[in-house]
This record gives sequence, structure tokens and C-alpha cells, in this order.
Amino acid sequence: MQKPKNNCIYFDYNATAPMREAVKSACISAFDAIGNPSSVHQAGRKARQMVEEARAAVAVSVNVAPVQVIFTSGGTESNNTALSAIKANEVFVSAIEHDSIIQAAIDKRIVPVDESGVVRLDALKRSLKEVKPPFIVSLMLANNETGVIQPVEEAADIVHQAGGVIHCDAVQAYGKVAVDFAALKVDLMTLSAHKIGGPKGVGALIAREGLPLVPFLTGGGQERNRRAGTENVPAIAGFGVLADSIEDILQESAALKGLRDRLEKGLGLKVYGQNMDRLPNTSCLAGDVPAETRLMQLDLKGVAVSSGSACSSGKVTASHVLLAMGINEQEAACAIRVSLGWANGEEEVDEFMEIWKEV
Ligand code: PLP
Repeated sequence: MQKPKNNCIYFDYNATAPMREAVKSACISAFDAIGNPSSVHQAGRKARQMVEEARAAVAVSVNVAPVQVIFTSGGTESNNTALSAIKANEVFVSAIEHDSIIQAAIDKRIVPVDESGVVRLDALKRSLKEVKPPFIVSLMLANNETGVIQPVEEAADIVHQAGGVIHCDAVQAYGKVAVDFAALKVDLMTLSAHKIGGPKGVGALIAREGLPLVPFLTGGGQERNRRAGTENVPAIAGFGVLADSIEDILQESAALKGLRDRLEKGLGLKVYGQNMDRLPNTSCLAGDVPAETRLMQLDLKGVAVSSGSACSSGKVTASHVLLAMGINEQEAACAIRVSLGWANGEEEVDEFMEIWKEV
């Protein structure tokens, strides 16, 4: 495995991951496919073939048919699309969803989580009794800050019994734990390529066959009238190569658990959601100084980690995920997220622990 040239200890994979060499090569060769995939001439057909090969690979990686894969510009667009695609009187989202769900749902009801960061299915069941279909529920598969895995399949049963539609944001789970659309029993699912070494700015919305969808972007008839706009062929080609190696990526991710556990044991800090079913690469650590201070100290020593979700770092606010778990604002503002990935090794973990002790 060729490692990226890095002059820092990069432990921020849940924000984004370095691109894999095979993905990079696929993107670069696809830049030479000059045609528009919608054009009927040879150049167009070549680009179309790249898109369809990638679609087939992405479909296999989550156990669906190619027709169920709608390419988008990433997790944010897929999440926004999911919530606007279904005609619903009510939108329910868990309290720990990513901002691309929380902000996209204007009039929403929040489903609480328990102190371990797991959605409360009893609360979901109770709130669904108060509404009539059509409604949509959005529940992520794995949380981006704690890595805690959610009971999506059970939630899907509850939602379907009540006559609603369920969407699952699987952005952080994809490639870190097995993601099987049919087994999750959801109607819609979001994927993004860049968290596991794919290109940034490409993802997919997976839809149950026959589910009527209102497109979020309108214009051309691309993606079977479900997402207008000329396809990002190089990024889609890279996503396809990534999806093709999903089994190897899953094995590699499983092996990260050993490194992550070594780090947690070595530091001996409180870990949020520690005893729950969690992503093998993620550790949300309790700190004793404001996270922004710790981030800067670590950055000066060449270490890249994150405070809560990357999209909200820069703002000095406590993580809504930790607050939802009942952690007080002061404690939540000190939490540090360490997320490992494909290019990390044991030496880096040991070096990180030394640096942590120094700062
Ligand atoms: N959903 C989750 C859980 C995420 O962690 C992220 C990115 O941090 C997104 C959605 C957004 O994905 P993208 O960066 O592809 O827009």
C-alpha cells in the first residue's frame, strides 16, 4: 500500500481521508474522457461507460441494483435531497444527525438519544403515534463524532409499521463497517466517497426501487430525472474504483480497531460512547482544556485531529452530539475527536501519545 506524502500525523479521517493511489489514477485517466455522458457520439458513450461501470461497482458495494444509485456531489447534497425528495407532513431527525440533515429539515421533530449516544427507539415509537403518514425519519448509521452505531434496522421496522419512510445517512459507516441497504430495510441512504480515500465532492443517494422522488436539482434529465446536471465523470470514476475494493477497505478498517484501542488505553482518558458498538477508527476523548486550545497545541506539533465535527470546527461551540448525550457545555467544549484511517500505523499512534503527554 502506497502511503500519502504527509508531514503531519493525520488523525482526522472522519473529516476527510487522503485519496488512495488507485482512485487518483482512475480520476486522472477519466479526465481524458472528454465527452458528456449524455451525448450520443463516441466520446459521450465513453464517458457514459465510465459512469455506468462506477454505478455498478457502487451498487454491489451496498447490495443494491445499479438503478438504485443516484450520483450526487456528496453527502451534503444526498442528505438535502433525501429530505426534500419525499412529500411529507412531518420530518423526524435524531438529535445527533450531521448538520446537513439538521439544517436541511426546517420544520422538524428531534428524536433524543441516550447518554451513550444511541437513538431512543421508545421515544421514536411514541412520537410516531402522534402523526399520520406521509412522514420521513432520518437516522444515521454511525455518528461522525463518537462513531456510535445506531439501531437503523429496528428503527426502519418502527417507521414502516407507522406508515412512514426512513432515510439513513451512512456517510461515516461506508467502508468502515459493512453497509447493506436491503438488510438495513431503509428507503433512502446517503453515501460519500471522501471519508475512506475516494474523491471529495462525489457521493450517492441510494433509493428503494419504485420510491417516487421529487428531484432536488432540476434541469436536465440526468440520473433518470432524479438529479439534474452533467455528471462529474472523473470523481464518479474514482468512486467506482473505491467501491470496487470495498471488501479490502473493510478489512483494513477492522484492523484499525487495534490501533484505536491502543491509543485509548495509552491515554487512559474518558471516551464517549466507549462501551457501545462503535466504528473501529473513531475515538471521542474527554479533554481538560478547551478543544480549540488543544487543537492548536497539537497542530503546532504536527498533529491533525478535530473537535467535534469538522464542519463546525472554527466555531467555538460545544458539539450538539455531546450535548444531546447529556454532557454539559463546558465538558463538551473540551472533547477531541481522533479518527484513524488507511494510511495510519502503530508508530504514529505511539508518537501521538508522546506528543499528547507533552502538551
Ligand atoms: N453526513 C455525515 C455523517 C458526515 O460526517 C458528513 C461529513 O462530515 C456529511 C454527511 C457530509 O458529507 P460531504 O462532506 O460529502 O458533503
